[in-house]
Amino acid sequence: LVGDFYDLEKLCVLGHGNQGIVCKVRHRPTSAIYALKMVQEEENIITNSCVSRELEILACTNSPFVVKCHGIFEPRAGEKAILMEYMDAGTLDTLLKANGPFPETLLAHIAHQALNGLSYLHACKIVHLDIKPSNLLVNKDMKVKIGDFGVSRIVHGSTTSYDNLGSQGTYAYMSPERLDSETFGSSSEKDIYAGDVWSLGVTLWELSVGHFPFFTPGKRPSWMEVAMVICFGEFPSLPKQASHEFGSFLNCCLERAPSKRWTVSQLLSHPFICMEREPNRLPSFTH
Ligand code: ATP
Ligand code: MG
Repeated sequence: LVGDFYDLEKLCVLGHGNQGIVCKVRHRPTSAIYALKMVQEEENIITNSCVSRELEILACTNSPFVVKCHGIFEPRAGEKAILMEYMDAGTLDTLLKANGPFPETLLAHIAHQALNGLSYLHACKIVHLDIKPSNLLVNKDMKVKIGDFGVSRIVHGSTTSYDNLGSQGTYAYMSPERLDSETFGSSSEKDIYAGDVWSLGVTLWELSVGHFPFFTPGKRPSWMEVAMVICFGEFPSLPKQASHEFGSFLNCCLERAPSKRWTVSQLLSHPFICMEREPNRLPSFTH
């Protein structure tokens, strides 16, 4: 176990995010490799991220489908360092950029693991709120784990509403009901979790075609344009090469009305997931 922050040797930067920087580090006494995320403690009003909430969630999660937290340090007043398991193949976003679109067998494998992660989180009453390729981490065993709880929430029964979920998360992956709670009405507790299912659907679609599904590649829409398309626009036609099972799976994730959208447990028995075959190899790695 890592007891002393100063036993950690910084090796390189793995990524920058809204909240801070993530480095690859070595624990000198054991030579074990970890990822270390440095974050400022105060609530960030612009990103609506909250370190204490992220720490609370990380401290209570323990699942093979969620990035594990190995320790929390306070190297300086107002600064927290979160020691995490190192995911040595990066994120689905970096793999997509390096290798291009994913084949369907791999997508089924990814979907299955992400659903297992969401099933675990939702059972713990945690709603992630920021599922997207860059928050799904991968290791060389092709294990996919959910990371980055910077905007996540613990759902407290009846007090939950879309307003309480904050506007953070990434608009492109946000469900219609979060973008437009007026049109989609007030939320039941079950509907709150449905937002993560929508985001997973958008994520898998993107991984299958190589670009964000609601806009043509190269175009940089404003968030208002994104919101209009997601809430009211015509849906793009499904990826051309998609099998019947994958197309149906995406449709089940991307039901506009949260009450009609499939739940995580329903999706876990969808034919696309049940047909899953173990992919025998991964595209080459970036780390
Ligand atoms: P963003 O706003 O982009 O989501 P963030 O500040 O919330 O970023 P994270 O998503 O936790 O921070 O991490 C930023 C980047 O650091 C990730 O996209 C990834 O490239 C890298 N990273 C984070 N955690 C790990 C890890 N456990 N192992 C390997 N790389 C990691
Ligand atoms: Mg992130």
